[in-house]
Amino acid sequence: MSIQLSDKINALKASATLAMAAKARELRAEGKDIIGLSLGEPDFNTPDFIKEAAIQAVNDNYNSYTPVDGYVELKDAIITKFKRDNGLTYDRSQIVVSTGAKQSLYNVAQVYINPGDEIILPCPYWVSYSDIVKLSGGVPVEVKTSIDTDFKMTAEQLEKAITPKTKMLWYSSPCNPSGSIYSKEELRALADVLQKHPNIIVVSDEIYEHINYVGGHASMAQFEDMYNRTVTVNGVAKAFAMTGWRIGYIGAPAAIARACNKMQGQVTSGANCIAQRAVITALEAPVSKIQYMVDEFKERRKLILGLLSEIPGFECNEPEGAFYVFPDISYYFGKTLQGHTIENATDFSMFLLEKANVATVTGIAFGNSNCIRISYAASTEEIKEAIKRIKEVVS
Ligand code: PMP
Ligand code: GLU
Repeated sequence: MSIQLSDKINALKASATLAMAAKARELRAEGKDIIGLSLGEPDFNTPDFIKEAAIQAVNDNYNSYTPVDGYVELKDAIITKFKRDNGLTYDRSQIVVSTGAKQSLYNVAQVYINPGDEIILPCPYWVSYSDIVKLSGGVPVEVKTSIDTDFKMTAEQLEKAITPKTKMLWYSSPCNPSGSIYSKEELRALADVLQKHPNIIVVSDEIYEHINYVGGHASMAQFEDMYNRTVTVNGVAKAFAMTGWRIGYIGAPAAIARACNKMQGQVTSGANCIAQRAVITALEAPVSKIQYMVDEFKERRKLILGLLSEIPGFECNEPEGAFYVFPDISYYFGKTLQGHTIENATDFSMFLLEKANVATVTGIAFGNSNCIRISYAASTEEIKEAIKRIKEVVS
């Protein structure tokens, strides 16, 4: 018998970030000395005060199914966090805790998108947006940006991309992969366009909120006229070094939150009990408790930008947040390096993997074909060695 998978899964692309990380692991297992700069994952351990809360939760016998949308105490901690950090007022009916921000995004897509609806994705966008949208039958509408506008979509571009079928706008700020941050004024300019199109809902992915080197995080929902039409997505993976704990959450219009709760109740049920208890402690702590990681990322940003500036053909914007650089490497297209002709960003990324033993991610996965993404959530030694190797193989 031949296995006939569904059309849906056949059409789905594998996550390029996870695929590259898996490839790097595989090559390492074969004995290759691979430096992994492909995955956006802090190399810090989860802070001790959070680990202790988890151990306490185990000992306190938190082992039963959790409420589908999250423990009330966690929802309250999220409500306090939204108020404290973002000036946003949500009540319990507007919060849904999920198994990672990825599930939060998936839920929102499933409950809000009908087949044929258009979803505007400023490029570069985070790798999974496009396929999450497609899984719900939506049509991603990519709005191309370049290094010239710091990879940010302008109000004019948004206006042009809107059609009668536009249902949502999805973006991340700080942006994965470009590190760009939309200022309050830039968000207001986008909101002004959306005022003329009152049915479009915004998904504002703020998971890198605290990994910000310039200050001034702005949320779309802070505008009174956008509050009722914005889903604010956040999570603990990045800022708290908790990628494997899998907790994300949304603050949303109550109708959307209710729908996500219903959706999750049929798919995964509530998120993990121990992780949720630990996240209460994480979110209740002052943000200053995690500042040491942000300070370290800032140093590494300086280091990697300095090292990359010494390599011809690596044109970088200065990322204001997150922990990625997204160099435009189109200079190499059409050139032959060590017998390999580089046609596009994927060729270049594969060339770096094979010849320099450095794992990066092709910009094509983020909707940008001129760039590659390099994560600097790695030790300074790894960053120095990786960029040295890259320099050697492209020279
Ligand atoms: N949004 C962005 C922009 C991300 O980079 C990631 C990667 N982790 C996610 C969402 C998903 O986060 P989580 O690990 O909480 O599922
Ligand atoms: N968000 C991270 C990244 O972009 C983790 C990988 C993933 O979830 O795709 O690398």
